[in-house]
Amino acid sequence: MKRVLITGGAGFIGSHLSERLLNEGNDIICLDNFFTGSKDNIRHLIGNNRFELVRHDIINQYLAEVDEIYNLACPASPVHYQYNPIKTMKTSVIGMINMLGLAKRCKAKILQASTSEIYGDPQIHPQIESYWGNVNPIGLRSCYDEGKRCAETLMMDYHRQNNIDIRIARIFNTYGPRMALNDGRVVSNFIIQALKNEPITVYGDGSQTRAFCYVSDLVDALIKLMNCNYSQPVNLGNPDEHTIIEFAKLIIELTNSKSEIVFKELPSDDPVQREPNISLAKRILNWEPQIQLKEGLLKTIEYFDKIIFQQ
Ligand code: NAD
Ligand code: UDP
Repeated sequence: MKRVLITGGAGFIGSHLSERLLNEGNDIICLDNFFTGSKDNIRHLIGNNRFELVRHDIINQYLAEVDEIYNLACPASPVHYQYNPIKTMKTSVIGMINMLGLAKRCKAKILQASTSEIYGDPQIHPQIESYWGNVNPIGLRSCYDEGKRCAETLMMDYHRQNNIDIRIARIFNTYGPRMALNDGRVVSNFIIQALKNEPITVYGDGSQTRAFCYVSDLVDALIKLMNCNYSQPVNLGNPDEHTIIEFAKLIIELTNSKSEIVFKELPSDDPVQREPNISLAKRILNWEPQIQLKEGLLKTIEYFDKIIFQQ
């Protein structure tokens, strides 16, 4: 049994990770400031005596004795991370320094939830870990992209300078139950719009691509990564790539919706193409996604249907 700190543990991915690690017999400290996370996501875990919920903001120091840290605290959707960009940067940078300081004091292993956004609008496709990226340092997405890039730099420097045992997960678009209703990301937006028979908002002409990973696959990968001894960045995601317009049509089909597609302005610096090369993860983690897009979407649709209509 390990004592595991999960920052952002009441968020979408964090709540699934908390549940899994708790079910595997670990002691969990779930730390969150509830900016985008919610007690509803982890309500079923509260009351378990191996689960501790702490309201805390990682831009302030936190002290505890832990064996492992999963640092997931950070708003992930463009709408949320652009709401207060200075706070987003503080969370990524000051929060990272605080968590690395804690890892140093406790001699804990630390995993950082990095992102495909560190590749920016990539000029290499699919993206491989050795690619340094194409990131606008002064745009609307920069608070997140550059914050996460700086966090990776801090991870590597604490590793080289202080011998901290680190893991860097470059997470690509992940979806599933417990995404927030107001999250604003494409999967939740399209499903909610389709279920309500409202217009599906495709930004730009919908030719941009993304590849979507179901949350249980990602959680498997995060745990495998923590348990291996590889300290360089690893891409985690599902390489099944789709254009956004194809994706909109698929959601309409799966929900049997009467929604029409409407086209809205493309947000600035929206990456044109994104797909992970996961050869490294396959090799070192013996992992690859198991849940096909339709299967994962049906589970997610069922979740939103319940949240929207049956409460
Ligand atoms: P989310 O917004 O649901 O979860 C983030 C959690 O962090 C929330 O519970 C939020 O309240 C909490 N949080 C935010 N700032 C905090 C702070 N300063 N102190 C304490 N808690 C704070 O998003 P998610 O999709 O679950 O993402 C989790 C992590 O994975 C994030 O770091 C994100 O950047 C990363 N990631 C996610 C995706 C994805 O597709 N979901 C892709 C790449 C990377
Ligand atoms: N998108 C869209 N309509 C929406 C929300 C998003 O067309 O209602 C597009 C967005 O412009 C991007 C893609 O879908 O090209 C994925 O957006 P999301 O915010 O989910 O994640 P990103 O990968 O951009 O961080």
